[in-house]
Formats: sequence, structure tokens, C-alpha cells
Amino acid sequence: MQKIRYLLATDLDGTFVGDEAGLRELLDYYDSLPERVALAYVTGRHRASAMDLIRGEGLPLPDILVTDVGTSVFAGPELVEDLGWKQRMTENWDPQAVLRTAGGVPGIRLQELPDTRRVSFYSDGGEPAEKLKYALSAEGIPHTFVFSSGRDVDILPENGGKGAALRYVIGKFAEENACVLVAGDSGNDLDMLMLGYPSVIVSNARPELLEAENHETLFRATRPCAGGILEAWMHFHGSAADIKG
Ligand SMILES: [Mg+2]
Repeated sequence: MQKIRYLLATDLDGTFVGDEAGLRELLDYYDSLPERVALAYVTGRHRASAMDLIRGEGLPLPDILVTDVGTSVFAGPELVEDLGWKQRMTENWDPQAVLRTAGGVPGIRLQELPDTRRVSFYSDGGEPAEKLKYALSAEGIPHTFVFSSGRDVDILPENGGKGAALRYVIGKFAEENACVLVAGDSGNDLDMLMLGYPSVIVSNARPELLEAENHETLFRATRPCAGGILEAWMHFHGSAADIKG
């Protein structure tokens, strides 16, 4: 795969997807540029669910697909699984231990998933999620804890998460000084928005992101979803692209 020079790394639900007119506008803008902008979708969905959404919404196929809250990376025209990342995500990962521990925590319900790359739950509000977090730490089970949207609890392998996966993807597939924009709308996007790359929080973001700490290259869009991505792209990279044209 040729190294990427321009990259949009975006969450799907509520970020890239959610405002059809805004998405059309963003994709038309990218089509008008002299250089292609590569797409990385970084989603909490599992692969089949992400592909359903891509087909259902008629989204462009991405160059890179990161699924299951950053625990799986697929790349290239055939979206083949990246084995280097898979290897890292299976070291020290014991999903059975997570399930055992969670069994003793009331108020959480297991999400049905095709495999155990991650173990995810629905929590009745914040409290059961907190209890699970403490229980996992007390048991000394290596993991990464992610809580989103006041409901979704994702237990990931140690050093997992969208941020870690995206850092790996950029290191492996992008040019050193690539123009990158990272976009998200909820708690599981936070670590990738904080990597230090130009990043955007779309205006429809969940409260947990509205409270996120500012950094120099974090842009808060006034528009929701893809319209907010376009706004941020113009803010960070608009003139660079014009000069190239
Ligand atoms: Mg989202």
C-alpha cells in the first residue's frame, strides 16, 4: 500500500454518518481536491456490522477499517486483517477472566458479539460500570476500560482502544508529515482525539466529549457530523490543499 499523505480518520455513528447532506458536501469537497484523501473508519462496531452500515448508507469503502473499539485493524483494497496489530491485541488478553469477573457485578448485561476481541456490556447508568471497573482492577486483570454514551462498556485488551490503534495505523500506513484529521462524537473516541493530531469534536457530540480537555489542535465544530468534519478540515488543511491545486 502506498503511504498515505492525506488522511481522515473518523468514527462512523454520529460522526461520519448522521447528516446525509453534510456528508455529501464533505465527499464532494474531497472529490474536488487535486490529491486523494484516504479514509480510515475507526468504529466501535464489529466488522460485519460496520460493513452493513457502509453498504446501507452507501459510504465509500475505506482504505483502513478499525473495528471493535480499536482491537482490530483491516487494510488495503480487500481489507485484510493486520496481523501485527492482532498479535499485540492477543498478548495478555484473557476474555474468560473478564467474563468471570463481570458475572458478579449487578446492572450490567453482556453484548452479543461474533468473537472475544473485546468484551462489551450494557450498563444501567454509570454505577454498575464503575463497579465493574473496580472489580477488574481488584482482580488484576490486564485490560483497557472504555465507557461511552452513559451505557456502553467496552473491556479491551491492555493498550487497546481507538487511540492506540490509530497511532499504529498512522505509523504504519501514513507518510511522516501526513495531513491528518481525527473526528469523533463520543467517549470511545476520546483517546484518539487526544493523540495530538488535528482533531474535531462534532457539534452533536455526547456530553462526555463536550467536557474534554482542550489541546492546541482540537477543534470544536459548530456543525454536526460530517458537516463538522468539513468545517475542521478547512480550518486545519484547507489552504494547504488549495496551494497544491
Ligand atoms: Mg460515534
